Parts: sequence; C-alpha cells; structure tokens
Amino acid sequence: MARELKIYPDPVLKVRGREIEEITQSIKDLSQEMIGIMYANQGIGLAAPQVGASLRLITVDVSGPDFREDLHVLINPELVEQEGETLSEEGCLSLPDFKCKVQRAEEITVRGLDLEGAEKIIQAKGLLAVCLQHEIDHLNGKVLLDHAGRLKKNFYEKKAQKRMQE
Ligand SMILES: [Zn+2]
Repeated sequence: MARELKIYPDPVLKVRGREIEEITQSIKDLSQEMIGIMYANQGIGLAAPQVGASLRLITVDVSGPDFREDLHVLINPELVEQEGETLSEEGCLSLPDFKCKVQRAEEITVRGLDLEGAEKIIQAKGLLAVCLQHEIDHLNGKVLLDHAGRLKKNFYEKKAQKRMQE
C-alpha cells in the first residue's frame, strides 16, 4: 500500500521517531517513497513521521522549483553544532494553510548516515539549515505549530478539527 502524507492533527506527528538500527530494503523503499511525496507536493523537506513511519529518517532538497538537484537523504540525523540566530518564515506540508516565524540557528552541522550506511556530515546555512532543523523537529514529535504563540496555535487547532469533521 502506498504511503500518504499525514496531516495535522494526525497523532503520528507528535511521536518521537525511533533510531534506525539497520538499513534494510524497507528503509530504502521508504526513503524513495518520501522523495516522491516530497517532490509531488513541491516540498523542500520531509520527515518519515509525515508519511506515518515513526523513524529517524529525513529527505531534503532546497533546490528548484524547476530542477531538483540537491537531494539529501539522512538516517538518524543529529544536530552537532549550531551558531547564530535567524528568524525564518516556514510552512509545512502537514499543516495546510499555516505559516509561522521561527527562531532558528543560522549555521549548523548535522551528522547522520546515508543509505549505504556511511557517515554523512552536512554543514549548512540559510534555507538548507532552516529546513534541516525543521525536519529534525519532526523526528522529535515537534511540529511548526509548537513554535507558534498560544493564540495562533489555538486558532489553527480549531480550523484543523473542523477540517477533520468535513
Ligand atoms: Zn514540516
């Protein structure tokens, strides 16, 4: 069965993803599905919980929109260094019609594994740094909404509940 994008308030979005201990064929298949879903929705990043898999796996590509050529697939990504601050306005494929300003580190180093199990270190700034931090939040059960103020969050929660009932 093909996986699909999970939309807030789907409970899987609030669960901490598990470490991936072995890179099996199903992990490789999952990452291919995530890449497909990310590109099909014109997204720049996707985390496994967003397709219903509670695992520490992300796909990121901030290039485009016409040509996508900067794909990163990261298993068990960890933020190992961060510097500076930046305020970014972000959206999320799992939160339709929502945008919010978030304080992020400006430059980061992320360490994880690629699909062959080799260590992969990404030094990033700008949009890529923001996107990586956003996706790692997802792995910790945190969504963009958790960065918003209480009023803005309540307002969106109500809209999301209404959408569920329709
Ligand atoms: Zn997101």
